[in-house]
Amino acid sequence: MRRILLVLLFAAAPLVAAQKSVDIVIVHGTVLTMAGPNIDDGAVAIDHGAIVAVGPSSTIAKDYAGKQTINARGMAVLPGFVNTHTHAPMVLFRGIADDRDLMDWLQHYIFPAEAKNVTADFVKWGMRLAAAEMIRSGTTTFTDMYYFESDIAAEAKRAGLRAVVGETLIDFPAPDNKTWDGAVAYIRDFVKKWHGDPMITPALAPHAPYTVSKEHLLQVRALATELKVPILIHVSETRNELQQVAEKTSTTPGKYLDSLGFLGHDVVAAHGVWLTDDEIKIFAAKRVGVAHCPESNMMLASGAAPVVALRAGGVNVGLGTDGPAGSNNNLDMVEEMASAARLQKVSRNDPKALSARDVLEMATIAGARVLGLDDKIGTLEAGKRADVIIIDLQQPKSQPVYAVESAIVYAASGSSVVTTICDGKILMRGGKVLTVDVPAAVAKAKEYRNRVLKSLK
Ligand SMILES: [Zn+2]
Repeated sequence: MRRILLVLLFAAAPLVAAQKSVDIVIVHGTVLTMAGPNIDDGAVAIDHGAIVAVGPSSTIAKDYAGKQTINARGMAVLPGFVNTHTHAPMVLFRGIADDRDLMDWLQHYIFPAEAKNVTADFVKWGMRLAAAEMIRSGTTTFTDMYYFESDIAAEAKRAGLRAVVGETLIDFPAPDNKTWDGAVAYIRDFVKKWHGDPMITPALAPHAPYTVSKEHLLQVRALATELKVPILIHVSETRNELQQVAEKTSTTPGKYLDSLGFLGHDVVAAHGVWLTDDEIKIFAAKRVGVAHCPESNMMLASGAAPVVALRAGGVNVGLGTDGPAGSNNNLDMVEEMASAARLQKVSRNDPKALSARDVLEMATIAGARVLGLDDKIGTLEAGKRADVIIIDLQQPKSQPVYAVESAIVYAASGSSVVTTICDGKILMRGGKVLTVDVPAAVAKAKEYRNRVLKSLK
């Protein structure tokens, strides 16, 4: 008997030895690779921050042994969400002045509140709270436009997130840089510090065509080309902006930027609500990416962006939450997907305008393309960085599941995300955020609320 057992063990040994040891194996999930058909009972093997294999659980389990194994039965496994436009530290202004026009909100509330409160400490704590919220709801890459971006980059990295961080340039004294030249000098140091970082892409963020002069826009364009960094800018967001730009330039914001030679593949235009057919053609030809922010556009009554025409015209369109204060007010990309689909349906009077699969693409691979990061992230494929999330579909609100895309977009929510992995590092497991001290960030947010209210009196 003992002899037989030994023979059996010996015979099994080569099979065990053939298994490659890797950091993490996720098994038994419905895998949405976003690069082809979904895999029922699929698995993903992760090692040294990269995806090494994706396939049926039976195959992957034969080839790979995880130092950690995550069982995703009854759950969806998909690429981490890519938020292509936000102002993350503004979480500390969440709810400060809602239900107003954009210009009223900016000029009477946000700009004064920022002038009085935004410091390196403010953005540090704001970013910490925002990081917890993003990790909690499955975002692994975000695109930021704010001040003190070097501090924001450091906090994002500390939380384990991937980020494109754009230092804001605007034609009035900003909280961090009181003059334009000061801001340009800051940007040179900031880019030098972060250039080549595997998780952080530094960027230039001129606020908008109506808040930055022609000379300054030309300077930003030249600087971005020189420093080889992307440009993030708000374009064609509201009717008021169209009016302001028309008064100054007699044309539309997109055409105006094109006339300056400003547009290129390295430009991410947020909103694009009022882009014309001609501008859509220009954006496609120049490979300008668009960050569509439906909840912001609804909240501020900016309008419904021509998402269907942009996509049909060959423009890369990603999704963004925009600021978490006054224009959303959260960083939940699942909610953003549902809003994107529903806004197109109602504005085009066509329930087929944008499907659950379309918005999942926008929140993952299309967003990665907008940021020029699609060679690294956006799909679950061997060779890409391991930005992977797991969404629990066992909860009452998402059962039963007939179509997984529909279950995620229309029935689940950000809080259905249970595991978030970025660059192979587990940032949240079983609903517990591991890289941010959440109670400390929440306590600090309450403290800042009182300080902000006092400053506005
Ligand atoms: Zn914005």
